[in-house]
Amino acid sequence: MVFRPTMGISRNLSSEVSTEALSAQEVWQRCLEVLQHNFGSNTAPIRTFLGAVQPIQLQGGVLTLRVPSQFFYEYIEEHFSAIIVRTLRRLLGPKARLEYHVMTAAEAAPMRLPSQELPPPTVFPGIRSTQTFPTNLNPKYTFENFIEGECNRIARSAGMTVAQRPGQTAFNPLFIYGEVGQGKTHLAHAIGNYARLLHPDKAILYLTSERFTQEYTEAARSKKFSEFLQKLHSVDLLIVDDIQFLIGKQSTQDMFFHVFNHLHQKSRQIVITADAPPSELRGMEERIISRFSWGLAAPLMPPDYETRLAILRFKLQQEGIQIPEEILAYIAENVQSHVRDLEGVVIQLLAETSIRRRELTLSLAQEIVSRFKPLRTRAITVDAILKAVSNYFKIHIDELTGKSRRKEVAYARHIAVFLARKHTRNALKALGEYFGGRDHSTILHSYQWVSEMLPISQDLSRHVQDLERILFRTT
Ligand code: ADP
Ligand code: MG
Repeated sequence: MVFRPTMGISRNLSSEVSTEALSAQEVWQRCLEVLQHNFGSNTAPIRTFLGAVQPIQLQGGVLTLRVPSQFFYEYIEEHFSAIIVRTLRRLLGPKARLEYHVMTAAEAAPMRLPSQELPPPTVFPGIRSTQTFPTNLNPKYTFENFIEGECNRIARSAGMTVAQRPGQTAFNPLFIYGEVGQGKTHLAHAIGNYARLLHPDKAILYLTSERFTQEYTEAARSKKFSEFLQKLHSVDLLIVDDIQFLIGKQSTQDMFFHVFNHLHQKSRQIVITADAPPSELRGMEERIISRFSWGLAAPLMPPDYETRLAILRFKLQQEGIQIPEEILAYIAENVQSHVRDLEGVVIQLLAETSIRRRELTLSLAQEIVSRFKPLRTRAITVDAILKAVSNYFKIHIDELTGKSRRKEVAYARHIAVFLARKHTRNALKALGEYFGGRDHSTILHSYQWVSEMLPISQDLSRHVQDLERILFRTT
């Protein structure tokens, strides 16, 4: 990763090179090359952010960049400036510096991102009418059909509060967490739907974090980035569901961080859901986690007996099923895991009684409930992966995590890294520790190698599939 100056500009000469010897454009070009080199294949942020930058002046060792907005300035300063300044010093001497010229609105108007059409104005100043993008809200999920109970009281009432006064309460962000099937998505939509009802003038956007990732990547690729940004910046209530899926996606996390800050600063409401409390989102950037604790973190806990009973009653009533108290109590007593399972029982009851015309008896209820016995789903660990790979290829774990460069060992190691990155939530750095203290770029390289080869190599694909089958069966 070391940049070697070429063509007569060497370290000892550098301080003597007068600034006039190189133009702002040339110096900037060199910086871009170094950046590209440093960021490897992940060039989307570079293209997006630096493509819109113009080097406008080089004087006295100070390179001035013209950037389209404050946001670009902040992003570049945070992510790229260290490398840029290092490169400048190498080229221009130890006093070299970077300065920014943030374009004013008037300057920015005729400016275009590279080879990009200027997006049509989507928001007209002064007339904040209806939003121009879909909210993605599912009208099916409301507060009316979200049954209140001890297990969800805080989250539910905080959700109603932020829907009533988005951005105006201390619950910003509102961070809702709970295991799968506990009602996070339902509550997230309910908040959006209620807010929409109360504030038809406000822009509301619901995104799963996968969708966020997808839209961001797409925008960066198709050069529609400023539209994407404009949309997110215009939102009054942003709901991001299942934020844990941003773990391991560095540039998307960065993007989210900036959107978060922008909205938060403008007192717009942010609602986030996750499968764990902020402090336990291992692998999520520290600074993002700390932002999450600015507001309120509210749990959705497994439903207690009373709530299970209430939910069951409600769902059965909606389906028009009459059911003896005894059977109801039996189900509520025995299906303890997720609200989703309670729903599953209701659906199967409905199927058995109406389609198969079976009589609704306690023994039928027992039969159905037994289908919902909690599956043991222990999370897959790196150790389990190492063990499986070691058995599969008959290579000792020490060798897998050691320094051996034997072809078979390296191959098995690539696969182990790939599986670990795919199925566990460890950050690259943490994975490096498991694999004998390798650095994160080595880990990333293994992962990328397997990802790229998978569609091409049948052997590789079979090995990975075999191992996944083994892992999911035995762990
Ligand atoms: P999660 O997003 O946490 O995995 P979901 O929001 O998808 O969970 O909920 C699973 C199912 O359980 C959904 O159909 C949802 O409507 C239902 N559900 C969850 N909690 C409640 C509740 N308190 N009242 C009524 N239905 C609920
Ligand atoms: Mg969900």
